[in-house]
Amino acid sequence: MKYFGHGGKGIVERILSSSEAKQWMRGLKRVSVTDRVARECIDLAYGFFTPLEGFMGKDDVDSVCEKMTLTDGTLWPIPIVFDIAEEEIKKQKVKKGNNIILSHNNCVLAILKVKEIFKYDKKKMEQAVLGTTDVKHPGVRMINRWQDTFIGGKITLINLPKFNYPFDKFWNTPRQLREKFIEKGWERIVAHQSRNVPHTGHEWLMKGAWFSANEDLPVEEIKTGILVSCIIGPKRIGDYIDEAILLCHQKLHDEKYFRDDIHMVSFILWDMRYAGPREALLHAIIRSNLGCTHHMFGRDHAGVGNYYDPYDAHRIFDQIPKNDLKIKPVRILEWWYCPICGEITYSGLCGHIKERRQFSGTAIRSIIEDKAKPSKLIMRPEVFDLLLKCADEYGFGSPFCTEKYLSKRQSVFLIS
Ligand SMILES: [Zn+2]
Repeated sequence: MKYFGHGGKGIVERILSSSEAKQWMRGLKRVSVTDRVARECIDLAYGFFTPLEGFMGKDDVDSVCEKMTLTDGTLWPIPIVFDIAEEEIKKQKVKKGNNIILSHNNCVLAILKVKEIFKYDKKKMEQAVLGTTDVKHPGVRMINRWQDTFIGGKITLINLPKFNYPFDKFWNTPRQLREKFIEKGWERIVAHQSRNVPHTGHEWLMKGAWFSANEDLPVEEIKTGILVSCIIGPKRIGDYIDEAILLCHQKLHDEKYFRDDIHMVSFILWDMRYAGPREALLHAIIRSNLGCTHHMFGRDHAGVGNYYDPYDAHRIFDQIPKNDLKIKPVRILEWWYCPICGEITYSGLCGHIKERRQFSGTAIRSIIEDKAKPSKLIMRPEVFDLLLKCADEYGFGSPFCTEKYLSKRQSVFLIS
């Protein structure tokens, strides 16, 4: 079945079987790619970035930076580019028109048809996409680490990633997700992006977004699901470990805090740019390619520090032409835990301004680090127990990323 994604285009799928690939690969030059480029090759080939079929050329990057669209006018906020060292291009004698093999950790991953080799002013890219060139911004630091030369061209995956447990349980390509949604009978799907182990605040917001997506439906027509779409990419010290994020979200489902038929957990491979509003748009595009109809955006979505107003990522949706994006933002304000109400409260609702407590990650983190069981008003006890179990099984004793976890953790996927 053909599924349609962003820009009204069919979901991109550029994958060769191993026998076809063997014929193609003969005599091709080989270059190795970084973890980020490998993740983005996988995203491109499976259509997470539909309508992109490969890494962008210079005109598209210019257009994305200046107008937030591809050269054909399709809304697109963040350049998807393959950076490569000039010496590598010279050493391998890579030329326009060549097919080259991209390998990752010495395994063959994809074929790239070289359409263009170009230089790009990374400061210009940073200013346009992130709104700053300040090296304190993690997105700036990421782009600064890239090489200055880029190759644009279509990607074809020739070896499929094999995900390790527990990632294998949650990995779904856009096609597989579409098929699952049909199987479940879901007509509306609310995406909840997560990089956290869920506490009751997250749960409350997902439930609120589900109500909001159903506001105009009579009861017998409610066929709405929640897709928890976690982001798996590079980690920083102090982040929750990936395994715990996925398994703890699934725990809410297994313990029936969400009904079996309205909730599922999945993930995407993505290296956060922390680009605030522009990144919110990209997340919306990716989730619309997954088949989602609604997307939750919290306060300071994809932001960092004070680089963006906390609600810039909400406002940007009012600035784009109405039909350019086939997903509806569900905008979420700030929320707290209020001991007087004895529950989660929300900006503009309860009046216990002095008593309400910020539900910050840091506060919850310090409770968890003490291994004291948080109140069930803050975190479901089953989730907390599982979090400690994950710490032992995957986190070398900690539910948060440590130096040891970052250097010794199992890989998310292998290319064989
Ligand atoms: Zn209150």
